Amino acid sequence: MKTNISECNGCGVCIDSCMVWAIKMDEKHKAERDELSCMSCRECENVCPKGAISYEKING
Ligand code: SF4
Ligand code: SF4
Repeated sequence: MKTNISECNGCGVCIDSCMVWAIKMDEKHKAERDELSCMSCRECENVCPKGAISYEKING
């Protein structure tokens, strides 16, 4: 999964949606995820008003 940095407007909606606090703002005010904390619930993907968060399968 990844965040489309050019689409992210730093609204913070995804941060509030994450139940395990796996998302924070980086120094450029873009959402950044801690992959180790993330449980892959996809809630952040659902709530992002910019569609900036997407999940991609790697290696099938
Ligand atoms: S909800 Fe989307 S646009 Fe808002 S901070 Fe998160 S990734 Fe960026
Ligand atoms: S997929 Fe779920 S656990 Fe992972 S960052 Fe998004 S809201 Fe948090």
